[in-house]
Amino acid sequence: MIVVMKPGVTKESRDQLIHWLKNLGLDIHISEGAYQTVLGLVGDTTKVDMDLVSSLEIVDSVKRVTEPFKCCNRKFHPEDTVVEIGDVKVGKGHFCMIAGPCSVESEEQIVAVAKAVKASGADMLRGGAFKPRTSPYDFDGLKATGLELLKIARAETGLPIVSEIMSTEALPLFEDVDVLQVGARNMQNFDLLRELGKTNKPILLKRGLANTLKELLMSAEYIMASGNERVILCERGIRTFDDYTRNTLDLAAVPMLHELTHLPVIVDPSHATGVNRLVPPMAMAAAACGADGLIIEVHNDPIHALCDGAQSLRPEQYEEVAEKVREIRRVIAK
Ligand code: PEP
Ligand code: MN
Repeated sequence: MIVVMKPGVTKESRDQLIHWLKNLGLDIHISEGAYQTVLGLVGDTTKVDMDLVSSLEIVDSVKRVTEPFKCCNRKFHPEDTVVEIGDVKVGKGHFCMIAGPCSVESEEQIVAVAKAVKASGADMLRGGAFKPRTSPYDFDGLKATGLELLKIARAETGLPIVSEIMSTEALPLFEDVDVLQVGARNMQNFDLLRELGKTNKPILLKRGLANTLKELLMSAEYIMASGNERVILCERGIRTFDDYTRNTLDLAAVPMLHELTHLPVIVDPSHATGVNRLVPPMAMAAAACGADGLIIEVHNDPIHALCDGAQSLRPEQYEEVAEKVREIRRVIAK
């Protein structure tokens, strides 16, 4: 249930109402907009007399919300959320470009790619140190060493770093990582989501291979209900019957998620297509449909990449697509 307060209500009378609602055993999520405050009532609202609340002088309107996701629901929080990572902002018109290799392979590699993508205007550096691989025989990342190499690349370029965390046990290693990515395969690792909710780290939550948007939002809800509101959603393609592409990029997810949630939504055209030449057109399409950012795999030597070389852009290709994306952003801002 949401309670929209009238404009100009004093803090005192608002707090009285909140106190009364809390006594009914509810959690109250407060969203302060420029003109109006919205209270999100989380918990068993069956005990709340809707007509009584509506009749209060300080209340503008009361609505029942049927969706099971509350904290990330736009109805509770009409304004877009901006997730800030140092000087980098994502959401509410702030477009964020994340780029870097699938996996961190060596200091030379990660520093070279970091410098190249920074020169092309990237805002953050990605790089996997813990890699979820379908085969147990494949390269699964440099682990702690990989994270240290990412930090070296950050020191060289100033770019905040984004890396995937696969288990709660690894959390201490991620203390100095700027954004923690939850990969598609872990979107419903509920223990991990709850633990990440207890941190104050920005979380990049990728959509699972065969998960609905509602399931994605419920996973965001796990993180937020545990106390961490700094969540960025990522559409990275879903499994369908077609096999020309690695996955099927569901771009309608972007405007649909924007309707449903206030959280920023970015797109990963690399894992969505799995094909280098398809990444630029899909990156541009994502920008055109209103995504809040892009995460793109870039490698300085894709042929010899230890993971996902086929979908990785070379730095000069990234430079070109980054410029085209900026042009598209200028067009849709008009
Ligand atoms: C990745 O970003 O390298 C990755 C493994 O992505 P996903 O979880 O979307 O497959
Ligand atoms: Mn990858």
